[in-house]
Amino acid sequence: MRSIWKSPSGMRCKDIGNNLFLFVFNNKEDYDWVLRQESWLFDKSLVLLQKLHEEVHPSKVEWKTCLLRVRVYGVPLVCMSYKVGQIIGQSMGVTEEVEWVKDRGNQGSYFHLRVLVPINEPLRRGMNLACGCLGKVWVYFKYEKLPNFCFVCGCLGHVERDCLMERSRRDKGDMAVCNYGQWLRVKDMSRPMNS
Ligand SMILES: [Zn+2]
Repeated sequence: MRSIWKSPSGMRCKDIGNNLFLFVFNNKEDYDWVLRQESWLFDKSLVLLQKLHEEVHPSKVEWKTCLLRVRVYGVPLVCMSYKVGQIIGQSMGVTEEVEWVKDRGNQGSYFHLRVLVPINEPLRRGMNLACGCLGKVWVYFKYEKLPNFCFVCGCLGHVERDCLMERSRRDKGDMAVCNYGQWLRVKDMSRPMNS
């Protein structure tokens, strides 16, 4: 993480076991910057960070959510409002930011959301959005810089070979079914020029 964090001077790291690491920063600027940049990836795995309060032992810290950047495609133009973006974000977790990105290209306009999502639940692939006289419209999600996740159960934090759902299927002699895939990732991170 040291190189990813631009080598903060004097930062120390301690492996406290169970995939937990304690980072001690030498100055507040580095500390604030690292925490402000939200979700970090290390070797495509999600790195969750939390400020540690003195009275809490690191092993007792609870990890419940992570911040993800989500693009929402397929939203009819008449529904492109901040409020609708909020509603879509709330269906995934807690909406932190809503942005409407106008694109005349192949993908069309989309919502760009920053959402705090529960880490122990499958990633959402889309939802039926009630659009007034248009009825229900399926809108679909793609995630920017998505860390490793399981294509079988859709959860962050493990891949198929470590999946309990996949193991239980195998034990019963059933074939693996991947309901998720690379298609959930945003491939082209560029943004339209006119957004
Ligand atoms: Zn899984």
